[in-house]
Amino acid sequence: MANKLTWHGHANFEIITPSLNILIDPWFEGNPSAKTKSTDLSKVDLVLVTHDHGDHLGQAIEICKRTGAHLGAIVEVAKHCIAQGISQDRVLNGIGFNIGGTVEFNSVKITMVHAFHSCERGFPVGFIVTLENDYTIYHAGDTGIFSSMEVLGQLYKIDLALLPIGGVFTMDPRQAALACKLLKCKNVVPMHWGSFPVLEKDTKSFQAALQEFASGTNFIEMSPGQTIDL
Ligand code: ZN
Repeated sequence: MANKLTWHGHANFEIITPSLNILIDPWFEGNPSAKTKSTDLSKVDLVLVTHDHGDHLGQAIEICKRTGAHLGAIVEVAKHCIAQGISQDRVLNGIGFNIGGTVEFNSVKITMVHAFHSCERGFPVGFIVTLENDYTIYHAGDTGIFSSMEVLGQLYKIDLALLPIGGVFTMDPRQAALACKLLKCKNVVPMHWGSFPVLEKDTKSFQAALQEFASGTNFIEMSPGQTIDL
């Protein structure tokens, strides 16, 4: 069975492997693009949170409590979630992990990498998720472009990058396109657009910039609620 990816709008993605359902930045209630309610999800094994802004932490705590899913987050965000009632044995590494670190969860490797943004607790991060069949996904979280994305491209064979293109709070289309060149990613799905009025309304500028900066990266357009095979 192939791995699958569902985009729930904004930065909210669900990765479905033959054995695991992984949510990243599970913002459902309040997310104008989401087609699913958080309470509709029955099988969730792991929830990853890039930072504690409401549109990224979303319903992570409720989902973990209801489904028994594990939580993966930087230590300060993990501490907050434990204080909100997630049991410590459901938190990856008990206390969370930190930038540069890798934890393994049922044969899936999750590496925490930096992001340039703001947050209330700890630091904002991105994740490199290496699935059971070595398919490697980079979720950038909220970030501006940074030149050490090139280092991530040297360290990891990135099959798919999930990159914000919306501008105002994150990379804009040109930055995200140049990021693809630095990351040497095979495929890209743009995110963090279309959900707030101030963000990019479509992917046209990103597609044009991708031709200019990283024509070797395959563009994948997703619409909220859509599932694709990886
Ligand atoms: Zn944010």
